Amino acid sequence: MTTRLSLVDPAPTLRLLSLGAGVQSTAVLLLACEGEIPPFDAALFADTGWEPQAVYANLDRLRTTAAKAGIPVRRVSVGNIRTDALDPAHRFVSMPLHTLNPDGSHGLARRQCTKEYKLVPLKRAAREMLGYPHPQRVPNGVYAEQAIGISTDEVTRAKDSGLRFLRNVFPLLDLGLDRAACQTYLAERGYGDTVKSACVGCPFHGNAGWRWVRDNDPQGWAEAVEFDKAIRHGYPRATTDGVPLRGQYFLHRSRVPLDQADLNTPPRTKRHLRLVTATEDGDPDGCSPWSCRSGEPVSGDEAA
Ligand code: SF4
Repeated sequence: MTTRLSLVDPAPTLRLLSLGAGVQSTAVLLLACEGEIPPFDAALFADTGWEPQAVYANLDRLRTTAAKAGIPVRRVSVGNIRTDALDPAHRFVSMPLHTLNPDGSHGLARRQCTKEYKLVPLKRAAREMLGYPHPQRVPNGVYAEQAIGISTDEVTRAKDSGLRFLRNVFPLLDLGLDRAACQTYLAERGYGDTVKSACVGCPFHGNAGWRWVRDNDPQGWAEAVEFDKAIRHGYPRATTDGVPLRGQYFLHRSRVPLDQADLNTPPRTKRHLRLVTATEDGDPDGCSPWSCRSGEPVSGDEAA
């Protein structure tokens, strides 16, 4: 007797949107609200607790708009990245801070934040919504399709989740929309003021990103300056654990205290122009859970 295998992939059990509430994922949600792409069972916002106020305001209005289309917007979170990092009693979580070593050389601290604050709560929510919370095994054929707002100009950031129960899809790539097209689409719907989604104090900000925080989010800027000072000699948890940092941490890539860093330097020479361009351009779009702002993949594992 021969066994007949089905070659037809089962339909997704759930359709989710990973909503960063920046330009691209906002466009994806509105496209679904307008019926241009299939609807979502839920849009999940992985909240690090330290997004710009403008992102939270966008999230609020999206919640209202999406509710009218029958799409719930859910906030998922494991904590506040800023207060957790500064809490001597909290488990150590590493951001990609710029390091200045005792010998003057430069480095970048290990990045665990995207996985910890974005992947973990998104995976946990997907498992719960599928009906198989950790540590239950999700059966074969049961999976959530998760839309990610990656536009055609950043196609290299489109990554698999690496998880059987969560499959990433990219509606903006299917529609051939780049970031500019998304911005036009948003502007036509009264969402033209949508900003990038990323932590206020993300060390991947270029000068343009830092200027935006300084000029548009005074509270966020004050918090970032305070945070930058607080982590200069390592995270408080590491210091209390008796493993102080050899060297110094900085939020700004120049390894200068944030409130003293030159965010406006006009280029003086060709070499300087290259440097300035690097610090201006080094400000990728928002932090996508499966593809960090650095462009590096963020691995998922089955457990949540
Ligand atoms: S925006 Fe930056 S600091 Fe925040 S989770 Fe992403 S990489 Fe980490």
